Amino acid sequence: MAEPSLPEPPVTARVDQLFPVLTPAQVARVAAQGRLRVIHKGEVLMEQGDSAPHFYVVTSGELEIVRPMGATETLVAVQTAGQFTGEVNLLSGRRAFVRLRVRQDGEVIELERERLLTLVRTDAELSEILLRAFILRRVELITRGMGDAVLLGSSHSSGTLRIKEFFMRNGHPYSYLDLDRDAEVEGLLDRFHVSAADVPVVICRGEVVLRNPSNQQIADCLGFNDAIDQARVRDLVIVGAGPSGLAAAVYGASEGLDVLVLETSAPGGQAGSSSKIENYLGFPTGISGAELAARAYTQAQKFGAQVLIAKGARHLRCVRKPYAVEIDSGDAVSARAIILATGAEYRKLALDNLARFEGAGVYYAATFVEAQLCGNEEVIVVGGGNSAGQAAVFLAQTAKKVHLMVRSGGLCETMSRYLIRRIQETPAIVLRTHTEIVALEGRNHLECVRWRNRGTGQVEAHDISHVFVMAGAVPNTGWLDGCVALDDKGFIKTGPDLLPEELTTARWPLTRHPHLLETSLPGVFAVGDVRGGNIKRVASAVGEGSIAVSFVHQVLHE
Ligand SMILES: Cc1cc2nc3c(=O)[nH]c(=O)nc-3n(C[C@H](O)[C@H](O)[C@H](O)COP(=O)(O)OP(=O)(O)OC[C@H]3O[C@@H](n4cnc5c(N)ncnc54)[C@H](O)[C@@H]3O)c2cc1C
Repeated sequence: MAEPSLPEPPVTARVDQLFPVLTPAQVARVAAQGRLRVIHKGEVLMEQGDSAPHFYVVTSGELEIVRPMGATETLVAVQTAGQFTGEVNLLSGRRAFVRLRVRQDGEVIELERERLLTLVRTDAELSEILLRAFILRRVELITRGMGDAVLLGSSHSSGTLRIKEFFMRNGHPYSYLDLDRDAEVEGLLDRFHVSAADVPVVICRGEVVLRNPSNQQIADCLGFNDAIDQARVRDLVIVGAGPSGLAAAVYGASEGLDVLVLETSAPGGQAGSSSKIENYLGFPTGISGAELAARAYTQAQKFGAQVLIAKGARHLRCVRKPYAVEIDSGDAVSARAIILATGAEYRKLALDNLARFEGAGVYYAATFVEAQLCGNEEVIVVGGGNSAGQAAVFLAQTAKKVHLMVRSGGLCETMSRYLIRRIQETPAIVLRTHTEIVALEGRNHLECVRWRNRGTGQVEAHDISHVFVMAGAVPNTGWLDGCVALDDKGFIKTGPDLLPEELTTARWPLTRHPHLLETSLPGVFAVGDVRGGNIKRVASAVGEGSIAVSFVHQVLHE
């Protein structure tokens, strides 16, 4: 194979942050956790796709990181004395994206993943340097589309949007080729024996071809969950990886609990679909939901929490302890305590043909991915809450006009003042009060929207192809099958909200009353948007997730 050329300069960060050089004292602290290994030119220390990659610090000689593609290679980086290998996959235990080869004879310090995790948990200085480099390297891989998956899709297909969002929200690098735009698509379709009718198609590690795969099939094919032991009884199983579940995971794992998180889709929950959160403490210029989610996910993994991706909870076996949660794959995970953090989902419009346009003109999130689809066009945002306000302000940066549609007479009772002011100051946003959508029309994609003024009864038709629905939420509690008491809207009742008769009906077996955030089932807690009486905010979700952990400790000692 020909020698790979010089690495391309990074596009997202400074080289000294991406590839820092450790001081001799820092190298010595790494060495205390690992072993020295002599390396020889040409030796491959890690192959692309390896499932349990090790961590290396170069003490002499050189390592090269290359991305193999068929018979060719792209040089990603060269690591010399004091520099180290790895990115966030080392924390999660997922497969390697690149090949690691010796470029010049020398010596490295080699650490198995468990030893690396111990190091980042115990050495604050090294933890900061390593985690920052890992995160920046991942951002670089995502920006350059250097992953182990290729998506062949079309901007007219809802499946393509779903898969793009799944990759994006899981922070997984992939390359995308569009049927309507990229000339290379034809060649790939022929090579992998798929047709245009099969899109979206995902090619995993250049080998396995998935036609319109579910999120779970993609996660399985790319080995997202391979490193996670599903058989052992955990101290704590958390259902849902939104802000509340991730907060519980960070606190639980950092306080020594064996924590497993189950997530139907991707970390971040509703907050992950927010374009910019401006009222969360500590981020004066705001933070996108995706970035907050990525940081929290990495933080939870740093402390040793494990997160099963695309494995939703289907049923709770609540009759005897340890409790068990049955998951989508048909397996069950057992736990001594459980935190329910399944949040809520957006209400849908009551229109017969809505499903036809979901992902093809009707969206429930307004992130960068959706904004790209509707640049310089007119869009509609439905809803009067903060999420609708944020979406309108965000989309107004790129859309020609944003129709913000509410059935009520205004925003004052449902939206924060700062957002109302921002909407008033944005000429591209038109507020349409007393208005509701009555029909969606189009062939493969939404083409026309009819709306009605509830006051005058007048119906208007507009050629608009993008509707963002942000109209309130319903709790994700359907799978609990009567295991815990719910309020009349389906939210989970906890602590002091549980009435004596509800505890009697639930056969509460203890002399003590349920703890704050504990449900009618001992040792099972509910936090965040899924809990009755919760204030639907990121901060309260995070607060409840962290508070619940202190009660989990008490229950585990009962
Ligand atoms: C677009 C948007 C913008 C917002 N902006 C703000 C803001 O600026 N400031 C603010 O304070 N709040 C904001 N919010 C509200 C905030 O995001 C929520 O209050 C917060 O996300 C609630 O967190 P949670 O963890 O309780 O639930 P969620 O965020 O709903 O997370 C629940 C998680 O559980 C998973 N799940 C559901 N069912 C299952 C199952 N059966 N098995 C496994 N996993 C499951 C879901 O996939 C999801 O990841 C916004 C919400 C939206 C939608």
